[in-house]
Amino acid sequence: MANKKTDNFQFQFCPNCKFKLIERDEGGKLLVCRKCGFHYYNNPVPCVAVILINKKGKLLFVVRKNEPKIGFYDLAGGFVEEGESFENAAKRELKEELGVSLELFNYAGSTSDNYEFKGIIYKTVTVVLVANIDGKIYPADDVLSVSYFDKKNIPFERFAFPGLSGVIKKYIGRR
Ligand SMILES: [Zn+2]
Repeated sequence: MANKKTDNFQFQFCPNCKFKLIERDEGGKLLVCRKCGFHYYNNPVPCVAVILINKKGKLLFVVRKNEPKIGFYDLAGGFVEEGESFENAAKRELKEELGVSLELFNYAGSTSDNYEFKGIIYKTVTVVLVANIDGKIYPADDVLSVSYFDKKNIPFERFAFPGLSGVIKKYIGRR
């Protein structure tokens, strides 16, 4: 199946009036509709991810069950929804994905990645938080499995997103 991968900056038509969009550069590229004046800025999509550390100092990773990158390791987390802070999004995602309620987060770093979904490549910008985890977890339907790794034995070659891997490497490097 020929599945042309495209960037969301390649959108062709105005979502407001269906006229053809043209590309413009105003110190940053954008798409403009010459009929109704609609402007499309290709801003990244905000995401949150959480480095979870247990009492033994091991890091928890989830195995992705859904596209993109099925079967690859990832941090718990996801897209920030409308009206949420990064912390609130983290709390919601951890509750949904792992059945845990966590309150205290530290900041580990931020990064960007490409997230390909249904033929469109979305540019993400991810804030990576850190939290301690103890007690039982209840992985949800959208998680294939969870694994704990010693920071010396993290299989980065099997990680879904290189930007996130970079933040994890930096974080464990300075511990
Ligand atoms: Zn238009």
